[in-house]
Amino acid sequence: MIRLSFIALLLCLQLHAYAQQVEKHITEENVTRIISTLAADDMMGRSAMRPEHIEKATAFIESEFKKIGLKPLAGTNSFRQSFQKQLIVPENLEVIINGVVLPKEKTLLATENTSANFSSGLGMLSIDYDSTIANKRQTLISKAFMLSRDTSAAFVIVDPAYQEFFGELKGYFGKRMLNNRKGTKIFVIGDKNIQTYSVKATQKIESITMTNVVGMIEGKKQKEEMVVFSGHYDHIGIRAAIDGDSISNGADDDASGTTAVIALADYYKKQKPSNRTLIFVAFTAEEIGGYGSRHFSEQVNPDKVVAMFNIEMIGKPSKWGQNPSIRI
Ligand SMILES: [Zn+2]
Repeated sequence: MIRLSFIALLLCLQLHAYAQQVEKHITEENVTRIISTLAADDMMGRSAMRPEHIEKATAFIESEFKKIGLKPLAGTNSFRQSFQKQLIVPENLEVIINGVVLPKEKTLLATENTSANFSSGLGMLSIDYDSTIANKRQTLISKAFMLSRDTSAAFVIVDPAYQEFFGELKGYFGKRMLNNRKGTKIFVIGDKNIQTYSVKATQKIESITMTNVVGMIEGKKQKEEMVVFSGHYDHIGIRAAIDGDSISNGADDDASGTTAVIALADYYKKQKPSNRTLIFVAFTAEEIGGYGSRHFSEQVNPDKVVAMFNIEMIGKPSKWGQNPSIRI
């Protein structure tokens, strides 16, 4: 018993000493500097779909890795791990029903085809108003996404009760990632009385570059074995203004995790090298489908990754409380 208590005391002292050492290297001042930079308005919300906006964050993380003294991944000469993705970009949409041209704010095209041309053959689906469901916004958006995944070509007649949220829905089906979806849906606010119609639309495909930022500290012994620290640095960009502010800063999601990755890189660089190689990576395009982490996973041998710490939203306590996975 005495021996156990002694070991416990030693462990406590060691942990205390360790915590003090960590505090010496991971300072509030440096953490505040990094997160404030990443979440500032001039980072424009760090949308991976807007290379001209997210580039500033990419360059900042790259410069931090360089300053810390990390090395690029083995076999590369840059911290930038770039890849190409394709976007579908709406151009024109004209919907005529019963001889009347519908206003743009009442129509929306969900397809990945570069053109649409219909005057017959479209199916008829609908999103009806249900007064028993309190959350109209959620109902519209979830039903619209569900219907957009169906592979048919059809009108989706949306009850005018959803008009106030239709603009937001149009935002989701604006410029977006190609996902190999086969269907075509023409969402229309109106009634189901359709005698004649004509739908004409064009869209274009755009290729954009997306970039993870990856650095490493080479291990001393088992160099090929990796421990990965990661977080995503992209956020959701610019959205409809709230109180005149349209930039989604994403301080918690996930500038906080990215800051941790940079701070940990700095910390470990100042320690004696580990036996295994430590990898530090800031992922892009998490918010639009996890494309950055997927690309990264294809660049390393998963059998050599012995541990991975993905750090997400540590800026404030979880809104689901502590250990939510245990509560569920
Ligand atoms: Zn996140």
